[in-house]
Amino acid sequence: MNQTIASLTPVQDRGGPAQPLLVVRDLKKHFPVRGGPLERTKKFVHAVDGVSFSVPKGKTLGIVGESGCGKSTTARLIARLMAADAGNMVFDGEGVDEFGGIRLKEFRRNLQMVFQDSFASLNPRLTIAETIAYGPRVHGMPAAEAKRLADDLLARVGLEPDQFASRYPHELSGGQRQRVNIARALAFDPRLVILDEAVAALDKSVQAQVLNLLQELKAERQLTYLFISHDLHVVHYISDYVMVMYLGQVVETGPVERIYGQAAHPYTRALLSAVPSMDPDNRTQASPLAGDPPNPINPPSGCRFHDRCPHAHPVCAATAPALIGMAGEPAHLAACHLNDPNSGHPAALSEIQP
Ligand code: SF4
Repeated sequence: MNQTIASLTPVQDRGGPAQPLLVVRDLKKHFPVRGGPLERTKKFVHAVDGVSFSVPKGKTLGIVGESGCGKSTTARLIARLMAADAGNMVFDGEGVDEFGGIRLKEFRRNLQMVFQDSFASLNPRLTIAETIAYGPRVHGMPAAEAKRLADDLLARVGLEPDQFASRYPHELSGGQRQRVNIARALAFDPRLVILDEAVAALDKSVQAQVLNLLQELKAERQLTYLFISHDLHVVHYISDYVMVMYLGQVVETGPVERIYGQAAHPYTRALLSAVPSMDPDNRTQASPLAGDPPNPINPPSGCRFHDRCPHAHPVCAATAPALIGMAGEPAHLAACHLNDPNSGHPAALSEIQP
């Protein structure tokens, strides 16, 4: 049963399927860092630096990139767990604002997050059923109704209420706890769920079960997912679209098969070729991605990937490439001078196809 929280009116689909559920524009977050006593200028970590994208309704956008690329900070900014320095969001056609458009309270209920650490996300003093019922109770749902909702959701995520409702988090396995976290997120009847490395800590077999559950729930409830992961196999399996981030910026985005089959950015190609192959005859011999990402306090000029890119040319350090559409697939965007015949890069356009 798809119950909703009685005290809040569910947000209706306002613009039809063609209207993206979420549009993010020029999101920025720079964290100040403490300098030494003699340092005059204040320094900042450029965690998220002008990120823009949209997520179509009922689709999954996978966000990938190395540690520190800004993918989790982007998720927290979207969820308003921290304030952005700049940028704005549109949720189903309405600006997300405390004073105009969709109200923050309503937006937060429509957006739920599931984190990697299934144990830390749960209150150890509450039973599983109390955990799931807690949010709806706070929003005014009567106790008996909230209990019924919790039991329904437990059953839906594969945990028999008679067996699990009265257990505490420490009595469950990691996979069972993550199912509880998913049930708790669904208790708000959200439209957008952000899954931040949500299956990363699970064994492969349990991971597959949870991924299949997420796929079923997405279809049943017309959910839209933002799926953040460092695991490119998992992202390939679950995503409809993929966004690749590097040092706080989007370097490529597009339909999943296009990104995995015809990546247009050297960083994406390096990430993909670093994925361990299941085929023993096709094992990667050397890492195509040398070194660590540069210091985000002082990111490289121009293209931020230029000091690790095998195709770098002086124009790459001088001018930042814009995200531009690729031939034949307008939803496929990449930020690399190789794809722009007017960029001044001598190999431009000869390197689009891997
Ligand atoms: Fe490499 Fe230049 Fe493209 Fe950046 S813009 S990815 S440095 S070729």
